[in-house]
Amino acid sequence: DSLEILVEQNPQPVPDSDRQKLLENPGFGNLFTDHMVIIRYTEGQGWHDAKVEARAPIPMDPASSVLHYAQEIFEGMKAYRLADGTTALFRPEQNARRFQASAQRMAMPELPEELFLKSVEMLVDIDRDWFPSAEGGSLYLRPFMFASEVFLGVRPAKEYLYMVIASPVGAYFKAGASAITIWVSQDYSRAAPGGTGAAKCGGNYAASLVAQAEAIAQDCDQVVFLDAAEQRWVEELGGMNLFFVMDDGRLITPPLTGTILPGITRESIMILAREEGLDVSEEPYSIEQWREDAASGKLLETFACGTAAVVTAVGTVRSESGDFTIGSGGPGQLTEKLRMRLVDIQRGLVEDQHGWVKRL
Ligand code: PMP
Repeated sequence: DSLEILVEQNPQPVPDSDRQKLLENPGFGNLFTDHMVIIRYTEGQGWHDAKVEARAPIPMDPASSVLHYAQEIFEGMKAYRLADGTTALFRPEQNARRFQASAQRMAMPELPEELFLKSVEMLVDIDRDWFPSAEGGSLYLRPFMFASEVFLGVRPAKEYLYMVIASPVGAYFKAGASAITIWVSQDYSRAAPGGTGAAKCGGNYAASLVAQAEAIAQDCDQVVFLDAAEQRWVEELGGMNLFFVMDDGRLITPPLTGTILPGITRESIMILAREEGLDVSEEPYSIEQWREDAASGKLLETFACGTAAVVTAVGTVRSESGDFTIGSGGPGQLTEKLRMRLVDIQRGLVEDQHGWVKRL
């Protein structure tokens, strides 16, 4: 799309010395940069009034339809500072396309891929001094879109806002956690066949919060969801996809049947694993099988993956029917190898043979 994005510099950016201090220990999702992107959509007119401007609260009418019917979608991606000092995005066109797929499922207008990419790149550029100094830090980007039309009535809105904000981030899980413990949710499901599980819409996350709270109460880091129909097939974590490393060289991950999010990290890992000679298969894997294979030793490792925490080993699985440990309970060899391969590409430490790294 040829829509121009107007730039209005923040007249009161965070002073240099304050920013340096904040960036030393950014945590995850608490700290935000000086600017944001905002683009409007009006039915009949299309996308208009595109701006990068000072980050500020947005006025909302109490009848804005998103507040009632939750027509909202988002993306999560990171900008990295490479070894040579340039900044880069990892497969951003994949986020643009998933954003379009989410929009379609939620009866929202699709943002053209070029506009998505341009908006994200402009924000990274104007807020380039906001990269954390800490090792492993990055600039987390949050594009999102919601129904802003003022009306009460259940139908797709005629007005939307698309926005992008940026947050300097460090590690997702508490430092020192080399393998996570996860809680199997047996009372709650995340997504049902025909539902919105494959879309990145806020409602999916709202629905996952009680299960996540249960996981925290059980001293676990994340919740793992089973399929809604049989409560038997392992689907994904609250915010990450899962992989199972078998002793016969197979790498299993649950198939994209419409109830799990098609992770970009998931797809990248499948490609890297095949290059490592693994036999990668997308097939259903049951909770009983998981427990049995962990006990027999057929299952060597389990790891979770996603943009925020990249690749993280799953050490222990806890549920109402008892706990089980995978391998030694720590990160296994293949988990480590795939994590390093991916991180090295993302950080520009090795040649980017796949064309995944978009330098800005
Ligand atoms: N599943 C869910 C439910 C998620 O929220 C995420 C994070 N976007 C993922 C999987 C991993 O997706 P990605 O690798 O694209 O970050």
